[in-house]
Amino acid sequence: MSDDLKDLFDNNRRWAGETESREPGFFSRLLGQQAPQYLWIGCADSRVPANELVGLLPGELFVHRNVANVVVHSDLNCLSVMQFAVDALRVRHIIVVGHSGCGGVRAALQDLRVGLVDNWLRHVQDVRNKHHAWLETVPQARRVDALCELNVLEQAVNACQTTVVRDAWARGQSVSVHGWVYGLHNGLLEDLRIDVGRADDVPAAYEHALAAVKARFEAPEEA
Ligand SMILES: [Zn+2]
Repeated sequence: MSDDLKDLFDNNRRWAGETESREPGFFSRLLGQQAPQYLWIGCADSRVPANELVGLLPGELFVHRNVANVVVHSDLNCLSVMQFAVDALRVRHIIVVGHSGCGGVRAALQDLRVGLVDNWLRHVQDVRNKHHAWLETVPQARRVDALCELNVLEQAVNACQTTVVRDAWARGQSVSVHGWVYGLHNGLLEDLRIDVGRADDVPAAYEHALAAVKARFEAPEEA
């Protein structure tokens, strides 16, 4: 094994040892079941470590990640994760998490040709095109982050429209959908204030959160 991979095994042995000594029986307890309360749908970006940045341990967060945290109605991968999380694990919260400075969002915004992923990022370009007129009013330097936030709102709405979530709501299961954005520059999560727990609430929640995003980007940038 090459040395750079061996480091990972060394780290792993240390992590497992420290975890077990801090909480004896930790791994054997997890064998029995996982009962996470949250499904995290985030970007694949290596700078956004889901569990770590919300201080959750293995077993506490169910995670799906893809480039630019997109929820596509025909993506069997994401839908399968959602279905298992909602129907089997009965998570109470589905959180779509974008992040500032997202490379996927930047590529979508600027029509950068990267490769196969361009096709995936068409979904983000749909968001860009939908909000094109407003985005043009945002100063260039803040436009990527503005689209990151719009993308979170649109993907959160997409999550609400899935059969998985709609069926859960129809049978009275308590599950809500949220949208957050993570700041690469400061390590802080911001709540985009879209919190939806019923099908009827989707349009108003979206409009409310959209107005808040717009207001923030129309205000002068904080020093
Ligand atoms: Zn990203």
